Amino acid sequence: MADCLFCKIVSGDVPSKVVRESAGTLAFRDINPQAPTHVLVIPKAHHATVGDLAAADAELLAEVLREAHRVAVDEGVAEAGYRIVFNTGAQAGQTVFHVHAHVLGGRGLNWPPG
Ligand code: IMP
Repeated sequence: MADCLFCKIVSGDVPSKVVRESAGTLAFRDINPQAPTHVLVIPKAHHATVGDLAAADAELLAEVLREAHRVAVDEGVAEAGYRIVFNTGAQAGQTVFHVHAHVLGGRGLNWPPG
């Protein structure tokens, strides 16, 4: 989509710090990290929310989740514990409407989230 920030990251028109890439996904560091490890994993194809992606391409959603776990392993946070978050909709804090998994780790994470 022409006016989508994360589509521009996929195309290289907006720079990003890429940490992993698979056939269908890209993982890059969040520009405003909320934990020592804070990586976003996105499908290269544009889907607005995780619900839209689940309905359209469940295998691609599975690839996003596999890659999110691999990021946690690569970053050395998988053993201690990490969190995968999909903010879904404005009230939940979603600001970029190209689905992304936040991979957060490297510190204690509170529950419930704010
Ligand atoms: P959301 O609020 O769940 O939609 O998450 C959007 C995330 O994208 C936020 O954590 C932002 O810090 C992050 N973000 C926004 N612009 C960029 C960018 O250009 N590069 C990397 N991360 C970004």
